[in-house]
Amino acid sequence: MRYQAREVGVDGRVRLVLEGALTARDRVGVQDFVLLENFNSEAAFIENLRRRFTENLIYTYMGSVLVSVNPYKDLEIYSPQHMERYRGVSYYEISPHIYALSDNTYRAMKTSRRDQCILISGESGAGKTEASKKILLYYAVSCPAHQRMASLRDCLLQSTPVLEAFGNAKTLRNDNSSRFGKYMDIQFDFRGVPVGAHILNYLLEKSRVVHQNHGERNYHVFYQLLEGGTEEQLLHLHLDRNPQKYLYLVKGNCPRVSSMNDKNGWKALVKALSVIGFTEGEELLDVIGSVLHLGNTQFGEEEDGQTYVTTEMELKTLTQLLGVDGAALTEALTHKKLTANGEEMISPLTFEQAGAARDALAQAVYGRTFTWLVEKINQSLALQVNGSSVIGLLDIYGFEVFQHNSFEQFCINYCSEKLQQLFIELTLRSEQEEYETEGVAWEPVQYFDNKVICDLIEEKHKGIISILDEECVRPGEACDLSFLEKLEDTLGGHAHFVTHKLANGKTRRVLGREEFRLLHYAGEVNYTVTGFLDKNNDTLYRSLKEVMCQSTNHIVEHCFRRGELVDQKRPEMAATQFKNSLTKLMETLMSKEPSYVRCIKPNDAKQPGRFDEVLVRHQVKYLGLMENLRVRRAGFAYRRHFEAFLQRYKPLCPETWPVWQGELAEGVSTLVQYLGYKPEEYKMGRYLVLMNTLRWEGPIIVIQAAW
Ligand code: ADP
Ligand code: MG
Repeated sequence: MRYQAREVGVDGRVRLVLEGALTARDRVGVQDFVLLENFNSEAAFIENLRRRFTENLIYTYMGSVLVSVNPYKDLEIYSPQHMERYRGVSYYEISPHIYALSDNTYRAMKTSRRDQCILISGESGAGKTEASKKILLYYAVSCPAHQRMASLRDCLLQSTPVLEAFGNAKTLRNDNSSRFGKYMDIQFDFRGVPVGAHILNYLLEKSRVVHQNHGERNYHVFYQLLEGGTEEQLLHLHLDRNPQKYLYLVKGNCPRVSSMNDKNGWKALVKALSVIGFTEGEELLDVIGSVLHLGNTQFGEEEDGQTYVTTEMELKTLTQLLGVDGAALTEALTHKKLTANGEEMISPLTFEQAGAARDALAQAVYGRTFTWLVEKINQSLALQVNGSSVIGLLDIYGFEVFQHNSFEQFCINYCSEKLQQLFIELTLRSEQEEYETEGVAWEPVQYFDNKVICDLIEEKHKGIISILDEECVRPGEACDLSFLEKLEDTLGGHAHFVTHKLANGKTRRVLGREEFRLLHYAGEVNYTVTGFLDKNNDTLYRSLKEVMCQSTNHIVEHCFRRGELVDQKRPEMAATQFKNSLTKLMETLMSKEPSYVRCIKPNDAKQPGRFDEVLVRHQVKYLGLMENLRVRRAGFAYRRHFEAFLQRYKPLCPETWPVWQGELAEGVSTLVQYLGYKPEEYKMGRYLVLMNTLRWEGPIIVIQAAW
């Protein structure tokens, strides 16, 4: 080590021990990509990731960004002792960790009094939700707690099992895939004590309630209930333990997942609900049960085309569980009410329409119950004293490509584009601003700016969402295919939009006649238009709503408000609602100081120890990590405020130790010159000293003072 401070311990009472805090193992590769010698080489970048991954070092920094590779196995690095080790320690002085990022963000909030946010991104299965859980755990456990607010901590931690049971499911990409987006604000008081929290949920994938692709499951809670519920509960709900008996659970032909223990999941859910203070437990069970019975409700068709319910028993249970009138429910499942010229008309539903109405009802009941659950959790987390600053935590769906991609993937990938856009804007902007305020010259780095794809999707009048909305309200023959035609007419020449007709045989994979392809920043995705209109419309027959409004089940009653029936205005359609909520989210995030966790998935087999280079390279590319690195490297990647820098390293120079009396900037200059830095290796900004990290070894030296 170059900078050993031998002349320490001047006054006899102070003993300073200089030591490298990092073990040899920690130093596999470089722990910050900024230190990579060959920083322009993608191969070197990936090799560094791979070498560290093989040693179970899943975290690597890139300046203030934390890059994380999913280990697919439990590493023993999250214990309370580990938490303790990271508390109050500067980012670079100890091996990279999600706790270091959490702690740093926390301290930044406390010292600067600016709201912070942590943005976690990566594709499905890359480890975003796990990362967000670790961060939450860190704040819940290691922040000072208020006597009165011990329960807040429990509620914070217990919100996860509830949301996961109802909002996560096994997909082909991830056995515990979040099918909703989540943004959580944690509020702190002026001393840094957590005093409240609030969760915003985004677009739950409702279609999963009634249909799953092969190899996938419905939401965990159904299987958990069947596996873990007591005999009494199941008897009351008229449910059988075998999931194969329920049509809503058999579509994916995947009742069990080896990595999931549904029984334990149920136990965790029950405990969590009681900690959070749910009093509607039984009614919640009734709702879950009713969805399963709804799925088993079947229809028959008379010769004259009349549709009727064939599963009388099912219907009886259903009416009991939902607390609604049986005759009214039967009527509403087989007929629709129309109002024309102020007169009410009743017309029968066809066999197909009745099935669709039933599925729409199941989705509405489940989806609204999910939102109700979030509300309940929010009540338990509500601010108890005045908060002063906030740390926001975003864990939202990752980029997703399947064999068949529908409206849900379209929304999910749109969200992914928006986040990438935010990342680009914020990293570029903040870098640029810092150089400007510090008065240091720099050369901008070229990025692929995905704004063009965001516009393609969300632009007013000619974006995909606008066109979809228009088709949804167009009277006459509008259908999924006419929507596709409209897209072709309007977006024909767009560089990121392709269809069968427009491709002219130029594309690699042949596109079906019902598909359009978007060239996303993260790769190509083919979307099947089937179901787009219905899913965007997201309507439930009025007569079904009327029945639900009368429910004696408080949850259902709360979810279906009478006001909805009187309100003449058509609510916004699903995609537009989603777009608006994303716009709001972006504004919220922009107003905060961001930190990033970029998650990488090492293989598609969900297996430990496997590092698929091709897969990783693809993610490194679309996450823009190389460009990000170049931006960091283009300048002086290590920055510290004069005061912090001097405080930390003053023992290394006799002139600055033990106290520097003069101007801070002058002290810093004295120190770095004493350490032998050449002028081109550091820059003095207005408030910051900026270092060329290639030569700066300071960060890996820890000075411990012992009195
Ligand atoms: P995402 O939210 O990005 O879709 P998850 O966070 O759900 O992905 O991670 C998928 C799975 O990968 C988890 O269920 C877990 O098995 C594993 N995993 C992810 N991160 C870690 C980690 N840090 N340590 C151990 N296992 C992990
Ligand atoms: Mg997730």
